[in-house]
Amino acid sequence: MSNIKVWKSESLGISIEIDYDKCTGVGECVRVCPVGVYELVDGKATAPNIDQCIQCCACVVACPNNAIKHSSC
Ligand code: SF4
Repeated sequence: MSNIKVWKSESLGISIEIDYDKCTGVGECVRVCPVGVYELVDGKATAPNIDQCIQCCACVVACPNNAIKHSSC
């Protein structure tokens, strides 16, 4: 069973997938994202501000658990 949550931005035409079997809530995505896309909720990363994304891919690179997939990265 996969446990993947997906956020989409209609305006940007992008998506972010976070695998909750891999996410440990360490918060590297929250720390590195230059525009505040991520928030930790109950110890897991969420991407409520995806419409702010500048598609820099820092979150994908920073995640130590390889839990983030980004449609542009
Ligand atoms: S690609 Fe860059 S701007 Fe977009 S969510 Fe990841 S770190 Fe933030």
